[in-house]
Amino acid sequence: MSEEATVTSGKVVVMHYTLSNDEGQTLDSSVGGEPMAYLQGAHNIVPGLEKALEAKSVGFKEKVVVEPALGYGERVDTPPESVPRTAFPEQLDIQPGMQFVAEGEGGKQVPIWVLGIKDDQVLVEAQHPLAGVRLSFDVEIVNIRDATDDEKAHGHPHGIDGTGGHGH
Ligand code: ZN
Repeated sequence: MSEEATVTSGKVVVMHYTLSNDEGQTLDSSVGGEPMAYLQGAHNIVPGLEKALEAKSVGFKEKVVVEPALGYGERVDTPPESVPRTAFPEQLDIQPGMQFVAEGEGGKQVPIWVLGIKDDQVLVEAQHPLAGVRLSFDVEIVNIRDATDDEKAHGHPHGIDGTGGHGH
């Protein structure tokens, strides 16, 4: 190969990452497990990280700091909403941090996150738990490859090597 692969729209990027907050607390990490694959340009990852990795090559290893506006958004100070427990699947053990999709105005699908449970009500809010958080990603790019046609059509990678289709 004469040309070095770089991260650009339509490439599947395979990387290890550790996500931490401003307090240095680790929130999520792929280290010690399978690396994560994402499709550049398809908004699989937060905009600030996608932007920072553009044009990078295999071996890129750096800390990328993403401000809330380019991460999970600024936190809006709104009180949580109460949803009756009966609106959720009965068998499900509902825990804080769980994500559901609610039907908003005009039938629009709105993601909601569980904050807690109070009596027969589930407290939810429509913002990501990491909204308002400055994100630090320690990233190491381990592979860059062309996305398959299927992956491009779906807007996400099918596993690290593109063969891990998920039956659709
Ligand atoms: Zn797919």
